[in-house]
Amino acid sequence: MIQMDDSGCVTIPHNVREAVGILADDCLTMWIDTDAIVLQKVEPRCVICNGTSSAVEFKVKLICVDCIHDLRFFYGTR
Ligand SMILES: [Zn+2]
Repeated sequence: MIQMDDSGCVTIPHNVREAVGILADDCLTMWIDTDAIVLQKVEPRCVICNGTSSAVEFKVKLICVDCIHDLRFFYGTR
């Protein structure tokens, strides 16, 4: 059992984080399923292709290296 503090914060126990591969600074999403709160790790995704590999932050958005290459090709040939 874990206990929520006065501000609504809880700590996910180390063994639970380790079991699902959650590391510091990972993003999580949360939803309610009947009477349970569900947390799920969210992989950062490219805003253009929705891919999860090699995304880098550009002006507060994540863009993958492949899309950066495609954008360079597209705008470089106009
Ligand atoms: Zn992409």
